[in-house]
Formats: sequence, structure tokens, C-alpha cells
Amino acid sequence: MTKTAYPITEHKYDMLVVGAGGAGLRATFGLAQKGLKTACITKVFPTRSHTVAAQGGISAALGNMGEDDWRFHFYDTIKGSDWLGDQDAIEYMCREAIPAIIELEHQGVPFSRTEDGKIYQRPFGGMTTHYGKGTAQRTCAAADRTGHAILHTLYQQSLAHDAKFFVEYFALDLIMDDEGACRGVLALDMTQGTLHLFRAHGTVLATGGYGRAYFSATSAHTCTGDGGGMALRAGLAMQDMEFVQFHPTGIYGAGCLITEGVRGEGGILRNSKGERFMERYAPNAKDLASRDVVSRSMTIEIREGRGVGEHGDHIHLDLTHLDPKDIHEKLPGIAESARIFAGVDVEKEPIPVIPTVHYNMGGIPTNYHGEVVQLRNGDPDAVVPGLYAIGEAACVSVHGANRLGSNSLLDLVVFGRAVANRCAETIKSGQPHRSLPADACDAALANLDRLRYAKGSLPTAQIRANMQKIMQEDAAVFRTQETLEQGVKRIREAHASFEDVGVTDRSLVFNTDLIETLELQNLLSQAVVTMVSAENRKESRGAHAREDFKDRDDVNWHKHTICAIDAKGNTRIDYRPVHMTTLTGEVDPVPPKARVY
Ligand SMILES: Cc1cc2nc3c(=O)[nH]c(=O)nc-3n(C[C@H](O)[C@H](O)[C@H](O)COP(=O)(O)OP(=O)(O)OC[C@H]3O[C@@H](n4cnc5c(N)ncnc54)[C@H](O)[C@@H]3O)c2cc1C
Repeated sequence: MTKTAYPITEHKYDMLVVGAGGAGLRATFGLAQKGLKTACITKVFPTRSHTVAAQGGISAALGNMGEDDWRFHFYDTIKGSDWLGDQDAIEYMCREAIPAIIELEHQGVPFSRTEDGKIYQRPFGGMTTHYGKGTAQRTCAAADRTGHAILHTLYQQSLAHDAKFFVEYFALDLIMDDEGACRGVLALDMTQGTLHLFRAHGTVLATGGYGRAYFSATSAHTCTGDGGGMALRAGLAMQDMEFVQFHPTGIYGAGCLITEGVRGEGGILRNSKGERFMERYAPNAKDLASRDVVSRSMTIEIREGRGVGEHGDHIHLDLTHLDPKDIHEKLPGIAESARIFAGVDVEKEPIPVIPTVHYNMGGIPTNYHGEVVQLRNGDPDAVVPGLYAIGEAACVSVHGANRLGSNSLLDLVVFGRAVANRCAETIKSGQPHRSLPADACDAALANLDRLRYAKGSLPTAQIRANMQKIMQEDAAVFRTQETLEQGVKRIREAHASFEDVGVTDRSLVFNTDLIETLELQNLLSQAVVTMVSAENRKESRGAHAREDFKDRDDVNWHKHTICAIDAKGNTRIDYRPVHMTTLTGEVDPVPPKARVY
């Protein structure tokens, strides 16, 4: 029984999209365009989603600035993933990248241009031609504000089609039926304090990453992985959560991102001796090696006493040798961020930077249609009816153990489009909704009610700070059995301490105390799953670097981790095989080999 009665308004749609970032908007307008009655609910105004902050660009082998081929992109992405990515999904993404970008251009994205009017493309880490031999200029950019340009265009397209938006609605929980199918979502209108049941034939989770489980992250404060939290509460398992990407260049102290595009345009990392140390770690790619490699190299420099600053605890990113005209044209946002957040004039001084949590490779497992899959009765690819996931919330898995820069914006639009295409084939507009049991919303209501009236002794902010500190310390760039075991113990305690959370505001209208508590609940379950999965994986692969198991171990660990957690915090680990097949005969699967840059 809940303390208060909660009247619920019911809405019926063919499709429901939760989230209005790049992934959610691409799916929303695609579904509406296909004639499906579609609603999109979002906790922030669509154009405030984290996608707006993406700087560097979006990859596609257009070959506008030198030779390129999607097969090179396919190879680079597999190598970047340290062979953990599913190769059918990677093939799909890299092939579809080209029409997807042309489509964005036609929809109105104001890309930067080359002299002859083509889309401007810059080099990015790990992007090569001829299977590692040359450097590819593959990352399509709108100056250093590419996410902003894309998100606004996608929102305009969604408005142009007949999609219905519910803005500042917070999705609380998935509504699942007895057969394990998803039938919609229960949401709270934060402005009115009213509850809404959205019933749909298909629900698409596009809720973004959970970077805010860490203390220092480039992601927005809204990146609390609510979709993953809801999936875990519904008893579903998450995939490859041990792989958390640290971006080499977060501004020291502030955490804000300095795009990899800066190194793409010629920026150089230097230690306290002024050395370009990346020459030692990645003789070919140097500063443009993949992110995991650069972040580890920086961490080693700092540890060995060659860090810069008063405490020797960060690194310099030097742009002073670049032409000021190029900085103004290609990196204006970066110059501004460096001035505001580090007090640095990039034409005269280097930017202080440090590896900062940036992206979650793990997420809700899906196939390349965006359908959520689980291991069921021995079938590793069993589809969960009615449930889809895309964008950073999902694990397709195209990024495997390490994502290449500019492949995420691509993943959003390619798989947002894929979901729309799939649903247009499988769902008929206006088909009747099956009846729901009277108690369908009870568990979700009970959870809301319990937190709203929680009288415990620990403020939300205190538990959150504790969780963020543990994740930052124990699930870091380098990991050992000792730190991970300690991390598992500490994060389980933090998770358990949520039983004693206290919320002071009891209202339902703009109750930020309650919303932050709901977000913390979502973060905590994913933090535990991340730490447990990391402790379990006894090898180094991509972003998961263990000092006690320094090598990749394909014999025992060439597989996806899947991990679920129950309400008491008990975790269960299983595995899914990596897809080593391709979809067309145009490329062959790439067998694992050593990964050097
Ligand atoms: C600073 C920064 C720069 C980046 N630069 C690049 C780049 O140059 N190139 C690149 O490829 N990648 C880049 N990335 C990564 C990429 O931008 C993100 O992975 C991507 O934008 C995530 O998009 P998304 O649509 O999955 O989620 P988001 O854009 O995070 O959107 C999530 C949406 O879900 C909604 N939502 C969440 N929870 C709820 C809830 N409970 N109820 C209702 N709605 C909810 C939010 O309102 C929001 O609309 C960058 C990331 C950061 C942080």
C-alpha cells in the first residue's frame, strides 16, 4: 500500500521514446515519419540533452579530404573495441554511416565546409586508412559544436513530423507484463506533480549514459543512466559495464571536455619536461592513439613524476604552435572553455588536462535493430518483446571495450534510424493495446512512494558523494584485484546505505530532492554492476586495464559480461558470445590480433 493515492492519467501510443538526445530524437522523428503514433518523454528540454555538448564530430568514411572506405572504418572500430565489439553491428554502423550523414546534411545540419563546398572532416584517434597504414580524415564536424548542430536539426525534424513531446516528464519505471514483455512506462510530470501511464507497443530507451556515477566526468549532471536503472529494476541484465572510457583531456579541476579534435588539428600533449611523451607510447599514432592508450600513458607520466603543476598531477595540452586563424575557425568553443574554466589563453599557454570519465561502453544489450536482448534458456540473443534501447544507454555492441572518438554521435543516428525502420516493419499503427492487469503499476508506485516519504538519516547528496568517490578511486584508469575487491565491498555498502536515505521535501511539484534521489537509485545499481563486472574480468582489454593481468586473454575472456542485480543488491554474472560474423559478403570478420598504434 502506498501512503497516498496516486491518480494516473493514461496515454496510448504506437511507440514511446524515453529520451530526447540525439538517439531519442532520431528515433522519434523516424517513427513518426513512418506513420507510427509516437510520443517522446524527456526529463530535460530536448535541446538541453547531453548530446548538445558533443564537440569534435561524427565519423563516416565519406572520403571528402583524402582516400577513405567504410571497410577501413569497420576495421578501425573493431580494433578500437579491442575485438569485443559485435562485428555484424559494426559492419551495419560503418556502412550505414555514409547515407546517415548525407541525410543529416539534407535535413539541415550546418557542417563546416572544405574549399570546394564538401563536408569538412578532421582526423580523430584510431581512425586510419588501409588497415592502420595511413591517417583518415573521417570525422565530420560543425566547428567544435557538432552535437549542438545535430541536436537542433533533429529536434526541428521531430517537430516537422507529427511526434508528441512530453517535456520535463521523468520516467520512473518500465511496465512489464507477466510474459516479460514491455508494455510502456510510468512517468512523473515534474512541473505538475501528476502521474502518467504511457502504454505503447514498443518502448525505446534513449536515456544516455551514467557518467555521474563518478566524481569527475565530462557528462552533464543529468547523465544518471535512468534507462539502465529501470532495466535493472525490471530484472534485466546489463552488458560490458566494466568498460568505462576516460577521455584524455578533461580540464584539470573542472572536468569539462577539451575535444580530441584539438589533437586532430595538431594539439600536442606535453609532460613537465616539455616532452611530447606520446611518441614513446604510440610511435605511429602519437597523440592520436585511441583514448584508452592515451589516458594510460598520461597516468604513467604523472605517476613517474613527470606531471605538471604544483602537485605534478596533470598534463599540458599545447596549442600555442597552431595558427590563431585555425583556432578561431575550427576550435572557437575550446578557446572559450579554456579561458572560462582554466583561465588560459590557448594561443599563449597550454591547457591543464587530466583523464576524465567520458563515456559508458556498457549498457542495455541489443542487436543491431535496437531490440533489447537477454540470455534466456541458453539463447544469448533472445529478444525482450516491446523493448528497445539506443544511444549511450545501449550496448549494441559497436564500441566493445573502447569507443573511438566520433563513433558515438554516429551510433545515435544509425541505430535511432534502425529502430524506426524495424518498428515500421513489425508494428502496425493503431493495432489494439492488450489489456494490462490492474496492479501493473503497483511496484513502480511503491518505489516512488517509499522514496518520497523516506525518513532515513542520510541525505541523498551524502550517499551520492560517497558513491562517486568510490568509483573514482577503485574503478579507475588502472585497476588491480586489491582495489577492485575493496571497491566491490565499498560500493555494496554504499548501495545498502540507500535503505537509510532521507528526503525532506514531500511534495511532487518540482521536487528536485525526490528527483535526485530517484536518479541516485539508478546510479547506484549501475555502479555496483560496473565494479562487480570489473572485479570479475581477469584480463586487460580496451578501457579495462588491470595491472595484475596486463594482457588480453582471448582464450578465456573474448566474451561479453552480462550482469543483473536484485533489490537486495545481489548480483548475477553471465556471458554472451561476441558476434564474429558479418551481414554481407562485402567484408570478412576480423580475427583478434595484437592492438598496437
Ligand atoms: C562533453 C562531451 C562531448 C562529446 N563529444 C562527442 C563527439 O564529438 N563525438 C561523439 O561521437 N561523441 C561525443 N560524445 C559522446 C556523445 O555525445 C554521447 O554519448 C551522446 O550524445 C549520448 O546521446 P544519447 O542520445 O544516448 O543521450 P543524451 O544526449 O544524454 O540524452 C539523454 C536523454 O534522455 C532523457 N532522460 C534521461 N533520463 C530520463 C528519465 N528518467 N525520464 C525522461 N527522460 C530521461 C534526457 O532528458 C535526455 O533527453 C561527447 C560526450 C560528452 C559528454
